[in-house]
Amino acid sequence: MCGIIGIENNENAAVLASAGLITLQHRGEESAGITISGKEKMKTFRSMGLVSALFNEDTSINKLQGTAVIGHVRYSTSAKNSLINAQPFQITCIHGNIAVAHNGNITNFLKIKEMLLKKGAIFNHTSDTEILLHLIAMSKGSLADVTAKALQKLEGAFSLVILKDKTLIGARDEHGFRPLVLGKIGNSYIISSETAAIEVIGGKYIRDIMPSEIVVIENGQIKKSFFYKKPKQQHTCIFEQVYFSRPDSIMFGKIIKEVRVKMGEFLADQMKGIKADIVMSVPDTGYYAALGFARASNILFENGFVRNHYVGRSFIKPSQNLRDVTARLKLRPIKEVVNGKDIILIDDSIVRGTTSRRLRGVLKDAGAKKIHFVLSCPPIIGSCYYGIDTPTKDHLIAARSSIEEMRKYLGVESLTFLSLDNLVKACSFADKKDKVFCTACFTGKYPTKISKNTYKEGC
Ligand code: SF4
Repeated sequence: MCGIIGIENNENAAVLASAGLITLQHRGEESAGITISGKEKMKTFRSMGLVSALFNEDTSINKLQGTAVIGHVRYSTSAKNSLINAQPFQITCIHGNIAVAHNGNITNFLKIKEMLLKKGAIFNHTSDTEILLHLIAMSKGSLADVTAKALQKLEGAFSLVILKDKTLIGARDEHGFRPLVLGKIGNSYIISSETAAIEVIGGKYIRDIMPSEIVVIENGQIKKSFFYKKPKQQHTCIFEQVYFSRPDSIMFGKIIKEVRVKMGEFLADQMKGIKADIVMSVPDTGYYAALGFARASNILFENGFVRNHYVGRSFIKPSQNLRDVTARLKLRPIKEVVNGKDIILIDDSIVRGTTSRRLRGVLKDAGAKKIHFVLSCPPIIGSCYYGIDTPTKDHLIAARSSIEEMRKYLGVESLTFLSLDNLVKACSFADKKDKVFCTACFTGKYPTKISKNTYKEGC
């Protein structure tokens, strides 16, 4: 999972892009980077950790001169968590200096990489994104044409920003798995993973970039085209609405906060008649669904957990003992709220089940009487091949257990998942009813062909 941003035709491009990236920080905390051009020679700065780690004496934001910028925040699997895979990637080729930042997963990466290796290509990174730069470098024509030709060869999920001199390109795969939106500030266009990043920097959201669409922007002028004339059925990731996207972002004409409240209302309807003292959420993504549940069921909403936002992913966990300390550091129940209570506890999803089981343990230790565990999505039974780092099927608790088996494992009084129908209803497009979501991790029905050679470790 990653976040991307691009801004062109703006004297403050670096400052604005950095503020936008901080807004997208929830999409990736492993590494951050920006590429800047338009005035001096193209330069890329990348760093492990948060966006704030990008800036130091040498890369002080005021010193970054340029009018066009792309930026990236990365969440990756631990095997690929290294500076070498931090984006944007910048190369020099026959077309000049080019940089790219990518959100998604190119499923035919291994096949294309093998073909490129046979042609003599040299790879610097272990990430799927690099093949795009090779494909562009090997083609002749305008940047827009060679990008279109390259994208026609890729399969899977990709939302991209590409930079060359003052030209900013945005593109989205033919299914539109990952979000990508277009905005404007003054005479400058902005491309971003989410609308919140556009609004935070004072810009205005204009529209979504469509599946198969390429936008080429220079000096405040935009040209759009499609790299497939007949785009496939849209399959935008429904999990963006459940978990990944910010609650203040807009997707398909709906603010995500409201979508999550609706999920909670549907859950209250599914559990009509349930008795409890309080409704609580697992911070942060369960919050709005819990609010919706509480309102619809007339059960008191309480904040029963305190979340510590300062526990980095890299906190050392050498032993079980210290792992427990880390867990307690992250989320701590408020005894006075939960003691002696029957609780409806709302979270977004269950993946392996270990975190949920631990949460039940800390609540019981704090005196909770009964726990009804409620999830704002259906059971996850399949891995994601489109840019979300879910584990393989054998590590997904719902892929190998019935709901009753999961309930027993978690040690809770009841276990309820939002039905797929209700999830789709809550997320449904405000305007275009003919589009559909990807729901493959809940149904096992993947919109693209999946085989044992399908690559799944993009970002
Ligand atoms: S498989 Fe699941 S997480 Fe992946 S794109 Fe589809 S809905 Fe989203």
